[in-house]
Amino acid sequence: MFWESDGATFADTAAGFYRQWVPVDEPSTLLAREFMSQLFDLSGRLALVTGSSRGIGRELARALADAGATIILHGRDEQRLAETAADFTSRYGAERVHSVCFDVTDDASVRENIAAIEKNIGAIRILVNNAGIQHRVPMLDLEVADWQRVIDTNLTSAFLVGREVARGMVERGEGKIINICSVQTDLARPTISAYTAAKGGLRNLTRAMTAEWAGSGLQINGVAPGYIHTEMTQNLVDDEKFNSWILGRTPAARWGTVEDLAGPAIWLASDGSNYVNGQTIFIDGGMSVVV
Ligand code: NAP
Repeated sequence: MFWESDGATFADTAAGFYRQWVPVDEPSTLLAREFMSQLFDLSGRLALVTGSSRGIGRELARALADAGATIILHGRDEQRLAETAADFTSRYGAERVHSVCFDVTDDASVRENIAAIEKNIGAIRILVNNAGIQHRVPMLDLEVADWQRVIDTNLTSAFLVGREVARGMVERGEGKIINICSVQTDLARPTISAYTAAKGGLRNLTRAMTAEWAGSGLQINGVAPGYIHTEMTQNLVDDEKFNSWILGRTPAARWGTVEDLAGPAIWLASDGSNYVNGQTIFIDGGMSVVV
């Protein structure tokens, strides 16, 4: 590796890179620290997180805000969105928090709202396609309307919102898109066939976006959470049989937490991932690599 070739430490090497941009004479460790913090600093960047009125999206929005981003919260339920926006405003200040309400499956509404954001709020530099739904029913009983609803919300939405946001990003020559996948991107379980198909499709949509837009300076990647302990999954955590299956099935021997998703999300939204293209990162305690 390049930083081992002449006995230099990583800090020295990082400082060397940093000096190319800021030619000041400071101890190398200080420069390296600044280099590292700048790599992941999202200050001044506008981030839209779909489905951030609650759940994982809300925590991803918090992580990006903690890293300095200005956040556009999003959801369908206006009351819930307003409550989340009030909480964010008290933490980060009104100038760094916006909220928009629209259905991610409605093409016309997506076009109208993304155009309005870009005109009235600013250029979206980070998009997290997070909004999603689950519908559990054996495949033999699955109605086509429910199949379509799950596909529309988990997969088509990422195309609709991604396409509209990417118009501006491609023009500006930079942007980060993070598609929230799942272990069901790679693994199947009974009763969630539409979700599994949608999340598998989302990984290939991530690759398709990369094939078309990476050359214009965009990085598009996926994050695939495993089983995350949230309010929504509390009933599964409390279910002794399911809980012991999860613990036995996960090499890390625990449920994931929303905090576990923060680091990878910040990394993929930041300059620290500028040459990471089209990948889906599994954050699942190793569940998807063992049988
Ligand atoms: P959640 O708590 O049910 O929240 C879903 C969010 O999406 C809400 O903000 C909801 O807004 C929004 N939403 C749903 N349908 C929408 C639509 N048609 N238009 C606009 N907004 C819509 O879900 P979650 O558990 O946090 O999951 C978030 C993402 O992570 C999903 O993509 C999911 O597949 C993925 N994931 C979750 C887990 C897990 O353990 N929970 C694991 C792996 C992957 P309203 O409240 O206004 O309806």
